Amino acid sequence: MAVPREQGLPPLNAFLERLEGGGVVVADGATGTNYQRLGIEPGVAPEEWVFDEPAKVQEVHRAFVEAGADLVLTCTFGASSLRLADGPLAGRGDELNRRAAELAREAVGEPTIVAGSIGPTGHLADPLGPLSRELALAAFADQARALAAGGVDLLVLETFFSLDEGLWALEGIRTETDLPLVVSYSFDQGLRTMMGLTPTQVVEAFAPLGVAAVGANCGKSLEDTDAVVEELLAAADGIPLWVKPNAGVPRVVRDDVVYDVTPEQQARHLASYVERGVKVVGGCCGTTPEHLAAIAAAVRS
Ligand SMILES: [Zn+2]
Repeated sequence: MAVPREQGLPPLNAFLERLEGGGVVVADGATGTNYQRLGIEPGVAPEEWVFDEPAKVQEVHRAFVEAGADLVLTCTFGASSLRLADGPLAGRGDELNRRAAELAREAVGEPTIVAGSIGPTGHLADPLGPLSRELALAAFADQARALAAGGVDLLVLETFFSLDEGLWALEGIRTETDLPLVVSYSFDQGLRTMMGLTPTQVVEAFAPLGVAAVGANCGKSLEDTDAVVEELLAAADGIPLWVKPNAGVPRVVRDDVVYDVTPEQQARHLASYVERGVKVVGGCCGTTPEHLAAIAAAVRS
């Protein structure tokens, strides 16, 4: 939370303070795949648990903090009004984002940083699809306002893939709040996003816009992430980097999705990123609290 500073200076922010403090910031692991472990039914969106299973949402937040996370992300990845429009939470975006932020804050308390997760709308940007700049600006502005009202310390654009949609998200968010913003893309086509963007292009597009950090999340194998991180580090030029990869490539075994990367393997990759200058690390899909504990231990040793 923001705390008052000397008159005339901008208020300190818990996330920026940690980033500028020089140490590594450990972010949390997966939301969806850990809800699966707690029994979420197939076809139920994780966001539905904010209203239906708030104790389990908080259980996952707390498990990551107990494992060593300094920062947890709200269960709002799919909670833009456009993404919710066709599902059971249509029209409830404001309430959902605010409640999810409050749940996270209640679960982890103060000094843990709460980040408001914002995912893509699920629609392709004009001219490839129906997402216009106006629609995007309004949807991201609404989501940011509700997350800010719920008390998040920063906002994170996660798993983005399109440059236009990311820029529109930033523009919409900035109409509502000055909270620090992290911009993270998913490079799931080797070194490129689904829309062909490279890590260098992402850094070049967002670094001049005053974002707190840029980075990569989700993606494919850890070996692919190694190459993405290499390129991010070369392009970064002082901007803090955020890296939250999957625990490997998912495999379907009978009805289950399995991630084969062990906590030790994931921790080894992430520790090497921190050694080379990455500031924020955590895990995406498949990353359990056990993985996160290994990551936290490895990057702090
Ligand atoms: Zn993921």
